[in-house]
Amino acid sequence: MKTALVTGGSRGIGAEICRQLADSGYFVYVNYCNSSESAQQVAKETGGKAICFDVSDNKSVKKAVNSIFAESGCLDLLVNNAGISEIDLFHCVSEERADQILNINLKGVLNCSRAVLPMMISKKSGCIINISSIWGQCGASCEVDYSASKAGVIGFTKALASEVGPSGIRVNCVSPGFIMTEMNKDFSVTDLDEILSEIPLCRFGQPNDIANAVSFLASEKASFITGQVIAVNGGMLI
Ligand code: NAP
Repeated sequence: MKTALVTGGSRGIGAEICRQLADSGYFVYVNYCNSSESAQQVAKETGGKAICFDVSDNKSVKKAVNSIFAESGCLDLLVNNAGISEIDLFHCVSEERADQILNINLKGVLNCSRAVLPMMISKKSGCIINISSIWGQCGASCEVDYSASKAGVIGFTKALASEVGPSGIRVNCVSPGFIMTEMNKDFSVTDLDEILSEIPLCRFGQPNDIANAVSFLASEKASFITGQVIAVNGGMLI
């Protein structure tokens, strides 16, 4: 049985990725940081296992990944999905919060990838899928730190794909547009109407729209695809 680790698998997009991967036959490690109950629920639904660690804490990441290796012998797929956002003017975001955004959204991706790669390189196979954002592609006013972190994820994806392709490892990125999850719970009805008017397919995305793209990139059907950014945004950025 193939094994996957999904960071931030407890809620929203990550939880749906866990469900689809389990349907495709993966044993899924459902990572969470705070939402223990919902992570346990996702693990129960998927027949996987919840695993608690903070992606921004490199020591905890190493320890958790080593425990996965000890238990399952290998890891075939890493989905770097965990992320946080903040909506405010750039100069009003505290240094502490800005560090947190970069440490979770970008450094977390680096930490988890670094921890799994030696094993994937020795096996000469593996797949890493990073979740960026439309704002990492075009930049968003009032989400400047977030945009910078997500643009970093795109640069990281391309560079790492070039480096580890010869080792049989594919690295790709999915870049969601506006997806209905708790991350967007604070938008007003007026804001939502305005955003909707900018989406040519006339609907907001759902977590399964992103999970569909992840499932495809993880599958054999994508075996010649690496270093790419697949935008799933209803045409919001063309
Ligand atoms: P969400 O509903 O807020 O869920 C965020 C997930 O990240 C939760 O499972 C959370 O786990 C986890 N997480 C946060 N900090 C963590 C940490 N330090 N260590 C481990 N896990 C952590 O967000 P979402 O909408 O599903 O977003 C998932 C990804 O898609 C993020 O990278 C986000 O930036 C990206 N994205 C979302 C949208 C959108 O419109 N929703 C658009 C573009 C990109 P706990 O609750 O257990 O802490």
